[in-house]
Amino acid sequence: MSVFSTNGPQSDPTVQPVPASVVAQVDAADTTLSNPKRAVVSLGSNLGNRLETLQGAIDALEDTPGLRVKAVSPVYETEPWGVEPGTQPSYFNAVVVIRTTLPPSSLLERGQAIEEAFDRVRDERWGPRTIDVDILAYADVVSDDPQLTLPHPRAHERAFVLAPWYDVEPEAQVAGHGAVAELLARIGRGGVRTREDLELRLPE
Ligand code: ATP
Ligand code: CA
Ligand code: CA
Repeated sequence: MSVFSTNGPQSDPTVQPVPASVVAQVDAADTTLSNPKRAVVSLGSNLGNRLETLQGAIDALEDTPGLRVKAVSPVYETEPWGVEPGTQPSYFNAVVVIRTTLPPSSLLERGQAIEEAFDRVRDERWGPRTIDVDILAYADVVSDDPQLTLPHPRAHERAFVLAPWYDVEPEAQVAGHGAVAELLARIGRGGVRTREDLELRLPE
């Protein structure tokens, strides 16, 4: 499924012809960086067909102009975090590594557009959801902006994030907190197990 229109101004018949190079430059200055950056994205689903939704979100990321999905973790089944046990279905979680020319704010918007495309509803904190798309890290950017905190402010204390992150990036560091491997060793893998019978595809 594509939730991103690739129809740029060039394909709009109402727009006067402009040299393609000029359109491309304006576009690039608006929404992209010149050199791709590595970023790590966490996906979680606990409503509907969780595996299909995770795969749909990965495919939608790959469909984004200026974004390539480079690695996809195994699927984890995890207990809901931060809520009363037994009050919500379990999650499927995964982590993907991407390379992108989108700046962080555009990547966040893209993640939110994907959440909307899967009818994500926000009515309670940490409530059940078809899909949650969080940016764990973007290059070595550190930011305390509440709209986009980097690295993700709770990544370092969540086994459901650290376990799949470790699988795709065993050497990763969480800026300000230390190595993913050490953080995971410290908190342990309680409430988190791999679903070896399930698999997410790296888009072609
Ligand atoms: P948590 O942030 O604890 O994982 P959540 O994912 O359920 O909780 P949401 O309701 O999805 O929270 O997001 C709340 C807000 O968090 C978003 O509107 C977004 O602007 C902000 N936010 C801050 N930092 C990030 C980040 N690194 N990735 C995604 N959203 C972020
Ligand atoms: Ca989240
Ligand atoms: Ca989120």
